[in-house]
Amino acid sequence: MSKLKCPKCEVKMDVFYQLGVEIDQCNSCGGVWLDRDEWKALTRSRGDNAVELNVVNLQPTDFSCPRCQNSLQEGEHLDKSDFKIDYCTRCGGGFFDRGEMVRLLAR
Ligand SMILES: [Zn+2]
Ligand SMILES: [Zn+2]
Repeated sequence: MSKLKCPKCEVKMDVFYQLGVEIDQCNSCGGVWLDRDEWKALTRSRGDNAVELNVVNLQPTDFSCPRCQNSLQEGEHLDKSDFKIDYCTRCGGGFFDRGEMVRLLAR
């Protein structure tokens, strides 16, 4: 599988593993991309039931989905509205700024 490009920096992201799940992270801005299934696997690995990534109040952005090239939309996490996520409505993946994914999962 070819490496994804960071939607913000357009540099190739590195793959690493967290909690047994493959995650793409940008070395430049520290943001991470999670596919829909990767997000669900991460939430499941914490002992919870798998949770869908629910993003609301979507606004258009200039960024493109690294997976399917659809335009990303910035929105808020359904339950935790202080989290901003760049979300792809086509494939269900999301881009999290540095540290946000960890903070979100930690709650
Ligand atoms: Zn980046
Ligand atoms: Zn997409």
